[in-house]
Amino acid sequence: MARIGFIGLGNMGLPMAQNLIKAGHAVAGFDVSRASVDKLAAAGGNAADSVNAAAADAEFVITMLPAGQHVREVYLGADGLIAKAAPGALLIDSSTIDVETARSVASAAEKKGLPMVDAPVSGGVGGAQGATLTFMVGGSTAAFERAKPILEKMGKTIVHAGGPGNGQAAKICNNMILGISMIAVSEAFVLAEKLGLEHQKLFDISSKSSGQCWSMTSYCPVPGPVPASPANRDYQAGFTAAMMLKDLRLAQDAAKAAGAKTPLGADAARIYAKYAESGEAARDFSGIIRFVRGA
Ligand code: NAD
Repeated sequence: MARIGFIGLGNMGLPMAQNLIKAGHAVAGFDVSRASVDKLAAAGGNAADSVNAAAADAEFVITMLPAGQHVREVYLGADGLIAKAAPGALLIDSSTIDVETARSVASAAEKKGLPMVDAPVSGGVGGAQGATLTFMVGGSTAAFERAKPILEKMGKTIVHAGGPGNGQAAKICNNMILGISMIAVSEAFVLAEKLGLEHQKLFDISSKSSGQCWSMTSYCPVPGPVPASPANRDYQAGFTAAMMLKDLRLAQDAAKAAGAKTPLGADAARIYAKYAESGEAARDFSGIIRFVRGA
């Protein structure tokens, strides 16, 4: 049994922390929302009333926060984790944030003698509940090996992506592929409609041909071919358009900083921005097909 501090008990963090409790760990949780802390306590966790209280005596501290600014605040503040975590505690940030923040926070932790990994996830709320998340981990080999048995209680696939920040790099590269491919598959279905080709026929052919990809075969944006996809329930999220836009913007920021040319990634970010601004930010990102159809 390990002593774990968990900070950020939202849609993802709460079920992840609950899985750690189910696995027999002692989890002290903190969130600025008291209601979330109460839910953790009801599941057998310890309610903490501050970042410090959650981290005191913890061997591992996990954070699952909205964005880079929250991570900076929780780690770098005067009363933050780097100032107050117990000596030798392993810090694990699973939030999706910019690579630069991930690297600067890890470097500040290292200076204080605290090992840290960035460990963003894919798999969504369903993956968090079912402990089937994929973790993309950046940090030293020693820190990765130490984090792995804990991450395995919340996920199914745990990959060491390289040094600090490389987990975030993997996450935004993957989601840039996803955003672009979902638009590509949507455009193909909309073109097929205009050409008189049935959705199911395009699916049957393309899912077995060179156009095959996850956006087609696992998350098909038209109702019918893949019964579990959000298209069958009015594009109820799932993974929202707002979250896709966040990740595409992180990818664009990283591309600019690194001098990489990503014109399709830039187009995808613009298209998702317009879709989100049209009042569909909370809709599943595969609902982009309705925007493509109407645009
Ligand atoms: P969420 O908004 O539901 O949860 C974030 C939680 O952090 C909230 O409960 C909020 O109150 C808390 N919080 C904010 N600032 C805090 C602070 N200073 N101290 C303590 N708690 C604080 O978001 P989520 O859906 O759980 O996502 C968390 C992260 O995971 C995000 O970075 C997101 O991009 C990423 N992610 C989400 C999904 C998904 O499907 N929801 C999938 C993959 C990755």
